[in-house]
Amino acid sequence: MAQPPPDVSEDDCLPEYRHLFSPDLLRDKVAFITGGGSGIGFRIAEIFMRHGCHTVIASRSLPRVSMAARKLAAATGQKCLPLSLDVRAPLAIVAAVEQALKEFGKIDILINCAAGNFLCPASALSSNAFKTVIDIDTLGTFNVSRVLYEKFFHGHGGVIVNITATLGTRGQVLQVHAGSAKAAVDAMTRHLAVEWGPQNIRVNSLAPGPISGTEGFRRLACFRSLPMWLCEDVIHLLKLLSIPSQQTSPQPASKLFTGLWKPGLPQHPFPSSSWT
Ligand code: NAP
Repeated sequence: MAQPPPDVSEDDCLPEYRHLFSPDLLRDKVAFITGGGSGIGFRIAEIFMRHGCHTVIASRSLPRVSMAARKLAAATGQKCLPLSLDVRAPLAIVAAVEQALKEFGKIDILINCAAGNFLCPASALSSNAFKTVIDIDTLGTFNVSRVLYEKFFHGHGGVIVNITATLGTRGQVLQVHAGSAKAAVDAMTRHLAVEWGPQNIRVNSLAPGPISGTEGFRRLACFRSLPMWLCEDVIHLLKLLSIPSQQTSPQPASKLFTGLWKPGLPQHPFPSSSWT
């Protein structure tokens, strides 16, 4: 049986690739991949392109997706169109989808991979921070799916794959926001599959566990590498790792937005996120 190709730890293309499926599996298909400039989305784009697919990779940072598109096109010989959009902004999604349709004339596959995440105990999580993750992961998935439906899948059919996660299945500390957002996406997947299935639109979720070499894994790794007894009392853990702070003055909105800081709490020990 064919073995999976060796992995690389950063957002670079694989040094070698042995096809597990027919190299022509996705010949001349077009995939629109949100969050395709990094991590899992980048690798999905690469594997699709190695199987003959053209891709559109879309996220907020144009430099990030542009650099990724250059690497992907050079490694695979397929076309990759980088576009800037925020999945929370329907008008930006409409503009991006129209540009993709202008370039390729069709979109066969939508991968909803864009997401935001960070570690935070529920007790320190602001409602704004919780809402931000719901807005990106859940509402963002709906926004992009709905625009794709309206602009192309309705009448042509298509395939939607939502990247969710296993972390909410049993519950996990520090992840109430992400687990809740992904559970909602799993429910949305079932609803859309039933509603759009008769129109030849297949809707599925793919729920990875921790994937090494990704931003998401790097953020969780600092926690996972700690002994289990520490994990049992997260608040205690936060106190143990915190840099004591007498902070009373207002913090930048960006910090409140991520929920990584709240008045009265010590500075959060985990890496701050760049996705708000
Ligand atoms: P990642 O590299 O941080 O990917 C997230 C992507 O989403 C980035 O490319 C980011 O690009 C984009 N993004 C974030 N906010 C956005 C917004 N508002 N609008 C548009 N794009 C946005 O993380 P990853 O770890 O590979 O995760 C990819 C997916 O797999 C996520 O859905 C995650 O929940 C899921 N997952 C990951 C793991 C894991 O172990 N890594 C496990 C289970 C599930 P910009 O910053 O340029 O916007």
